[in-house]
Amino acid sequence: MGVKKLINNVRFKTGMANCAEYMDLIHDVIDDQATPDQEVYLRRHLKMCLKCVDHLNLEQELKMAIKQKIVDRAVPSDLAESIRTKIENTTL
Ligand SMILES: [Zn+2]
Repeated sequence: MGVKKLINNVRFKTGMANCAEYMDLIHDVIDDQATPDQEVYLRRHLKMCLKCVDHLNLEQELKMAIKQKIVDRAVPSDLAESIRTKIENTTL
C-alpha cells in the first residue's frame, strides 16, 4: 500500500478525509440534490468534523438570506403599474 493511500485510509477512518470532497456534498444536500446514501455519508462525517458542520451552517444561512432577499425584492405592484402606465403612454 502506497503512503498516500495509507494516509487517505487513516484520514477516512478518523473522519479526516479530504473535506473538499464533502463541501460539494454539502451543497448537494442543501439543494436537495443528494441521494439518501450521500446524505448518510455526509452526516457521518459531520459527527466528526466541526469544520464541515460550520460550513453546512454557513451555507444554510446563506441560502436563507438569499431567499429572503429575493422575497424582499419582489417588485411592488404599484411600481409595476406605474411602469405599465408609462409604457402605454409612450408614443413610439
Ligand atoms: Zn470535514
